[in-house]
Amino acid sequence: MISVEEALEKVLSYVEVLEPEEKPILDCLGQVLAEDIYSPIDIPPLDNSAMDGYAVRDGDTRGASRSSPKDLIVVGEIAAGSLPTEEVKPGTAVRIMTGAPLPEGADAVVQFEDTDEVSRKSSRGNLSQIGILCQVEKGLNVRYRGEDIAKGELVLENGKLLRPSEIGVLASLGRSTATVIRRPIVAVLATGDELVNIDQPLPPGKIHDSNTYTVAAEIFRYGGIPRILDIGRDSVLSLTEKLDEGLDADMLITSGGVSLGDYDIVKDVLAKRGEIAFWTVCMKPGKPLAFGVINKIEQGREKKVPLLGLPGNPVSSMVTFEQFARPAILKMLGKENLAKPAIQAIIEDDVRNTDGRRIFARVIVTEREGKYYARLTGPQGSGILTSMANADGLAIIPESTTGVKAGDIVQVQMLDWSEEMSATSLISSPLKGED
Ligand code: AMP
Ligand code: MG
Repeated sequence: MISVEEALEKVLSYVEVLEPEEKPILDCLGQVLAEDIYSPIDIPPLDNSAMDGYAVRDGDTRGASRSSPKDLIVVGEIAAGSLPTEEVKPGTAVRIMTGAPLPEGADAVVQFEDTDEVSRKSSRGNLSQIGILCQVEKGLNVRYRGEDIAKGELVLENGKLLRPSEIGVLASLGRSTATVIRRPIVAVLATGDELVNIDQPLPPGKIHDSNTYTVAAEIFRYGGIPRILDIGRDSVLSLTEKLDEGLDADMLITSGGVSLGDYDIVKDVLAKRGEIAFWTVCMKPGKPLAFGVINKIEQGREKKVPLLGLPGNPVSSMVTFEQFARPAILKMLGKENLAKPAIQAIIEDDVRNTDGRRIFARVIVTEREGKYYARLTGPQGSGILTSMANADGLAIIPESTTGVKAGDIVQVQMLDWSEEMSATSLISSPLKGED
């Protein structure tokens, strides 16, 4: 039996960052950029207005106020998307819309609210002039050419995670595609003679296969592409046949068939078709976890496909997925933050640790007066999938302890928090006002 850390290190040592692929920018969301992006243009491309108002020379507004407006002659109007035709000479102004290029001569924009345009309109006054109601500084409400991005600048660096804002930056540069690390294809295979697919009636003695769906959903959630291989039966032959269908995947994930029972065959398949890297991890739930590789021949060369054999119990398979499959998928995607964000919380129940394994207890996390609290979701049996469905986090009870008492501080992995939140700052900060 090896520790959780040793097991994770082993799993990660068998997976590599995948190759880049070029695709439409919207399809790149959540993936890691595999090229440096330099800007071919200035953004904005021209000096332009940040407000609807009047483009003026700042000097012409000197001394202007609501009680003593300065009148300027309106020599034109520019909408966003058109180019100015008039110059702003001393004593004149051009009506301008947000995003429209600043006319020559102008160096500031007075927003409509600081002019008498509304009162002129309502009193059917002379609109060939405009009253400026305040003094403005040079540059007010002007967005300068290249102030966001200058031509030639390195805008997005290789390795950057593409979020909606980066997708928008790519679009503003006129990029329709980008090169990113491709998503891993992960084959999913549930095993067990008792399993029935969800679209079939349930005969006596059988259960619906839920692991395929939790595992496939987790693969999606962490950025992989699940390939469901149907249900394998409890024989080496059935399992081998099914696994053969998934050998072009980047990783294989099975569930069930790894514990000490008579029908535990994932290990046999690993031993026969590849090699076992480890079996059994010092954790609860999830002890009978198997990991190894299946050998295959691809273009005349031997290749190894990593296989993670999750335990069949639905909670065990989810907890082990979180600890090992999730980081493996993130590594293949080229991501650097592999750790689930963790917080420190005050546990509200006693949890006994009777056999020196690391317990991952399903907890509901609440925050009260600046402190996090974690209480058990209820019965913690590894077949009780609702204990996961009700959980916000996994509270870690170390293997070195005989348990924790209500009021003790525990570390909690937050199941729905993104790995992109820095784990270190989270662990130290949330326990505000600790006494
Ligand atoms: P095993 O690891 O194959 O010994 O299975 C342990 C427990 O998990 C048994 O009660 C199985 O019926 C259950 N189990 C195994 N595979 C699945 C699955 N795909 N969906 C739901 N329960 C499962
Ligand atoms: Mg089984």
